[in-house]
Amino acid sequence: MGVFDHAEFDNHESLHYFQDEATGLQAIIAVHSTALGPAAGGCRRWTYASDADALTDALRLSRGMTYKNAVAGLQFGGGKSVILASPNAPKSPRLFAAFGRAVASLGGRYITAEDVGCSVDDMRHVREETEFVSGLPQNGSSAGGDPSPWTALGCYQGIEAAVEARLGKDSLKGLRVAVQGVGHVGLYLCRQLHEAGAELIVSDVNPDHLELIKAELPVIEVAPSELLYADVDVLAPCALGNVLTSTTIPRIRAKVIAGAANNQLATEADGARLAERDILYAPDYVINAGGIISVAGEYYGSSSEAEVRADVCRIRDRLQSIFDEAKSTGRPTNELADELARNLVAAAQ
Ligand code: NAD
Repeated sequence: MGVFDHAEFDNHESLHYFQDEATGLQAIIAVHSTALGPAAGGCRRWTYASDADALTDALRLSRGMTYKNAVAGLQFGGGKSVILASPNAPKSPRLFAAFGRAVASLGGRYITAEDVGCSVDDMRHVREETEFVSGLPQNGSSAGGDPSPWTALGCYQGIEAAVEARLGKDSLKGLRVAVQGVGHVGLYLCRQLHEAGAELIVSDVNPDHLELIKAELPVIEVAPSELLYADVDVLAPCALGNVLTSTTIPRIRAKVIAGAANNQLATEADGARLAERDILYAPDYVINAGGIISVAGEYYGSSSEAEVRADVCRIRDRLQSIFDEAKSTGRPTNELADELARNLVAAAQ
């Protein structure tokens, strides 16, 4: 499997493969950049069709973290880890402790936290082996705990900003919002959208997550294959990446796309495809930075919960300026965000 000629290889600083025979752990840690600080980004535990798919995910996600952390103004570079889920490596405290040893072996070049398939509890077991972990149970009023509510708050505010920019509305009342994936972030986001008076259309591939949300909120459930094409004002991808492609974009009816999922665009050109269709896209790593802002506040031990909240609320302003620039220049929002991120990293180098 080639790395240096891989389509997603972007001058990543280092790639690390780990195997632990006792627990079955197989993991990849990708350090994309440490220009702005230690490479920080969550750990994803997922069933990949192949090692190659896991590598692709790690390469893309870690680059996204460099951009996310730079634009959010954090003293973090970008990295990401993936644990290859399999029946031979069941989720257990020992598995996460083994992963903790892998993180420890990098000596602080990489800092982990929870992402898809991992929880605060799992990070507690990582912490048994390394200090280079965040997203641990909260201690009093200091920053910490599950990053998902913060990610959801940033997304909610980003949706408000995008709706104002594209639809000229200062309220979400009566708007139809489709949420793809009602896991950690999706559920918190749906609660806020419901409170704001939005009508919710949801899908998930996990029936338990659907049952949970249906018991709490009035939602319209649609099949996962239909969610992207629902007749809605806003589409909020909150599941996995690669959902906005040359195949899906022509069929999307939403005027705004703003959600938490990482790597929503399959390729950079898909951002231009959205712009051509006059669909306003909130760059994923700008809108979904709430979680890593909380993680950074916790890791550096310098922020209170109130400070994290204030910082997460700045996501709205960042998006607004990207939307304004897109309007005045006609350039796609993803290009503008990438340019901003690359300039910030280059300045640090
Ligand atoms: P999660 O695993 O808790 O939730 C994801 C949900 O999506 C699950 O319920 C899953 O069943 C569902 N899903 C998967 N494939 C689907 C499909 N094809 N259609 C519909 N539903 C599908 O993960 P999460 O922590 O809520 O994160 C969601 C997304 O947001 C991920 O892309 C993650 O990387 C990103 N993100 C999360 C955070 C955070 O703080 N948790 C921060 C930044 C970005």
